Amino acid sequence: MDLGDLGDLVHPNGPHEQWQDHGLGLLRTILHQNGIQTDLLSTRAITSWDQLRKQIQGYEILLMNVRSYTFPVARKSAQIFKEVNPNGMVLAGGMHATVAVDEMEAVPYFDRICQGPGENIIVDLVKDPHAFPRVIMGVGAKSMAEWPMIDRTLWPKPHRRLRKKFPWPLEPECGWGPGPVATILTSRVCPWQCVFCNESSYIPNMGRKPVDMVIEELNYLDNKYGVGSVVIHDSMFFQHPKWLEEWIDKYPRKANKVWPYWAAGRSDTVRQWPDLFEALVRETNWNTISIGFESGSDRILRLLNKECTEEDNNFAIELVNRLGEEFEREGRQPPKFWANIMLGIPGETREDAFKTMRMLKTMKYVFPSISYYAPYPGSALGYQLIAEGKSLMSKDNYHRFPDDEKVKGVDYQFYRELLAGKYDDEINRGLADYARKKSGDYREALVKA
Ligand code: SF4
Repeated sequence: MDLGDLGDLVHPNGPHEQWQDHGLGLLRTILHQNGIQTDLLSTRAITSWDQLRKQIQGYEILLMNVRSYTFPVARKSAQIFKEVNPNGMVLAGGMHATVAVDEMEAVPYFDRICQGPGENIIVDLVKDPHAFPRVIMGVGAKSMAEWPMIDRTLWPKPHRRLRKKFPWPLEPECGWGPGPVATILTSRVCPWQCVFCNESSYIPNMGRKPVDMVIEELNYLDNKYGVGSVVIHDSMFFQHPKWLEEWIDKYPRKANKVWPYWAAGRSDTVRQWPDLFEALVRETNWNTISIGFESGSDRILRLLNKECTEEDNNFAIELVNRLGEEFEREGRQPPKFWANIMLGIPGETREDAFKTMRMLKTMKYVFPSISYYAPYPGSALGYQLIAEGKSLMSKDNYHRFPDDEKVKGVDYQFYRELLAGKYDDEINRGLADYARKKSGDYREALVKA
């Protein structure tokens, strides 16, 4: 079962709701390669639970990859499955099973709950779920080199109204680069431990996908479907300098085309390896650089255990500003930040928030992506706030609207006004001319955390 809000593949609110699930794609590919045929239903492809009730009848096993924000949908799907197939079994795994197993265990419809990676256990589990206890520790591959190439035709198809714009089994463009978009993973683990992020709690360390395999897959997809641009979904692309050097050497030479791509980095490592960063931007067409700047205030960055400083952030911004100007002078498309910014962090003062907005305004080439801090389970700060009873994110509604209030005691009205530009004079104080001229209205940039 592909999970997401009802109707996301029928009338999506935005392109990001149409991304495909690599975990689902990988596990389904493994099952099919091992002779276990599955059908696929998607909560994103229906608009009512009654539709699911009809579609789900007659199956023996329901498999789900559950994330915190799809937990409510997973629970409801499991309930319906059990109602119409009382002898059927529900096997659930994924991030939420790992970081909030107590919530999963409390749902009687989940018969087996697999924590951690599932690629090396799923075949045995599906063949004989009764041989396993209710909560199972998953088994992952040592390296992504062991993974088969995902058979993307096993991903859900968009609703027929979207088919013209949705280059299935590739994905639609979302403003970062031309479609069709090939999304891909090259690494699975982020070694940092930011307290708001649950990345490190999920997957034990595992080897990165070899550069040659990444390029081979992209070329294969291009030959078959035609690739317009690439999104590297890694939580941290800009790590392992040796791998990156090999990427710089091979991608421009061996890929069918040096497709522009979106990928994530950190400002401290940009500052640590500026030459490597520049070479990636110049030579490999890394044109949308996602950086979790989060805050423009050292106090908050420390509180988040971000291990980046205001100075690191400024260094990365100045470097991309400079590269962007140079590219423009040469008539090339400038690289742009996808700047992740977090507001509403418990303990943040107004001055901290002003500093963050000032930092954002100094970026000349940027897609701002602002979210209110969300206390997800699996992250150190999330666990703490949940334990203290300060989280406003309920199990039933982890991830609904960007503007949802998420933590008790945070003055969301102030943040709404901040994003509407009410404090623009204050923010503009001390900024260079070009930054002052930028609109202070960032309401459109507020996204789900
Ligand atoms: S926020 Fe980014 S850098 Fe920090 S742990 Fe998560 S993925 Fe890694």
